[in-house]
Amino acid sequence: MARYTGPVCRLCRRERTKLFLKGERCLSMKCPMSENADRQTRAFPPGQHGNARQRQGSEYLGQLREKQKAKRIYGLLEGQFRNLYEEANRRPGITGTNLLQFLELRLDNVTFRAGWAASRANARQLVRHGHVTVNGKRVTIPSFRVRPGDVVSLKGDMRENFNTRRTADVLARTVPGWLELSDSNFTVTCRAVPQREQIDESIREQLIVELYSK
Ligand code: SF4
Repeated sequence: MARYTGPVCRLCRRERTKLFLKGERCLSMKCPMSENADRQTRAFPPGQHGNARQRQGSEYLGQLREKQKAKRIYGLLEGQFRNLYEEANRRPGITGTNLLQFLELRLDNVTFRAGWAASRANARQLVRHGHVTVNGKRVTIPSFRVRPGDVVSLKGDMRENFNTRRTADVLARTVPGWLELSDSNFTVTCRAVPQREQIDESIREQLIVELYSK
């Protein structure tokens, strides 16, 4: 499945918020969205007139931006995101919550949440390159949906990898309550489908549902 390969900081600038797409850099003063008095901040939309242009807000614009933000946080393109929405809509329950749960249960997201990768893009690469197993079998599909009870592990060769070690030390991410770490933090068990309050991304999913249900 295709993925976005362009510059990612401009995505944050477009959404006017930090999407944390670059791992360690996002927490540093190098982030163009950071408040830094000594350095020129670029916390405005990209493009020649990004800083000057004043946009009129509208209901549609709010919905569109929220959908784009969710897509970009999880690293999906439009077709894949739309299909996920359609599936969430068919399922019983609240469509917006279903959608976020599907996004959280992707194997690349679980790898990221487990703290083995600095960003979701990095986690996707770990999966694509065959460094992650589910219930003892190698799975190389980033969109693979993890189910409650599944055991996800990082393979032995990557456990000593410099970047994996550095991510664990520097970012020290806290694992959400629906995942359980074991095996020196290199195995994670999915305990349950995450509840909405356990998903800490600032996404207003209702706006996405309103956009797609027009
Ligand atoms: Fe976004 Fe990270 Fe780039 Fe900052 S450094 S703009 S948070 S991707």
